Amino acid sequence: MTPDELKQQIRQITVWKRGEQRAPHKPLLLLYALGKCLDHDSRMIPYAEVDRELRPLLIEFGPERKSCHTEYPFQRLKNDGIWELDHESNLGRRASNSDVKKSELLKHNVHGGFTEETFQLLRANPALVSELALEILNQHFPQTFYADLLDAVGLEIQFEQSLRRRRDPAFRERVLMAYQYRCAVCGYDVRLGSTQVALEAAHIKWHQAGGPDLETNGLALCSMHHKLFDRGAFTINEALQFCVSQKANGSTGLSEWLTSFHGLPLKTPQSQDYLPLNEHLEWHRKEVFHGPGRNLVENA
Ligand SMILES: [Zn+2]
Repeated sequence: MTPDELKQQIRQITVWKRGEQRAPHKPLLLLYALGKCLDHDSRMIPYAEVDRELRPLLIEFGPERKSCHTEYPFQRLKNDGIWELDHESNLGRRASNSDVKKSELLKHNVHGGFTEETFQLLRANPALVSELALEILNQHFPQTFYADLLDAVGLEIQFEQSLRRRRDPAFRERVLMAYQYRCAVCGYDVRLGSTQVALEAAHIKWHQAGGPDLETNGLALCSMHHKLFDRGAFTINEALQFCVSQKANGSTGLSEWLTSFHGLPLKTPQSQDYLPLNEHLEWHRKEVFHGPGRNLVENA
């Protein structure tokens, strides 16, 4: 296998396969395993360890779901040709055609890891590990996730050069103009001379999930509110009011950045034509917001 072939294989794995639903399981397992392979010499990782370490990544960086299944990507990545399991024979034939229960994986101490060929290729090319990690990030997560996610999986990457993405370069300008160059939550609009600083155009429905580069899918947000919005600390309801997650907590900053805006209306754009479409907001509420939301008091 050549580095290019491996890249191609990763690209095929990480395509969006589930329509509107975010499916970050395999991408997160891959990032986790890429972090491991630079760090450790052991290729095969016990499932118990993967479960312990991948679970918090799924909870923090994945969508809100009733249950968290680390056993699915651990087994299903095998079908993509770069991952394998050992001790699998202990599990009987079921392993080849359907998912084995988590308890079975634990009981038989199943290990999983990159195939020998893939692992050797990665170990010999640290730059390739970085390229693959960036490719996965680009395909599945907005840029507000990059630093935290790389940190969480222990990958150190110079990623400035690869922040280029397929997107409409005018999107930022159009969205900022729609909101008159201020944060749609807090109104922040600081400039250095004539240059806007730390004001960004956020996608409501992520570019990675097929969200369009249109004003109706954009919000002008300060860097802090952009990150809090992308990470699901707050969302926007059908009435265009902010709704803060019950999971958001802390002492300093919680009120200033979040709860003081709870229930308040979005600072509306300068034209009705630019108002966020509910279908995009709905995607955010389902796939990004870490609910449940705090109660909204009438006329608050
Ligand atoms: Zn703001």
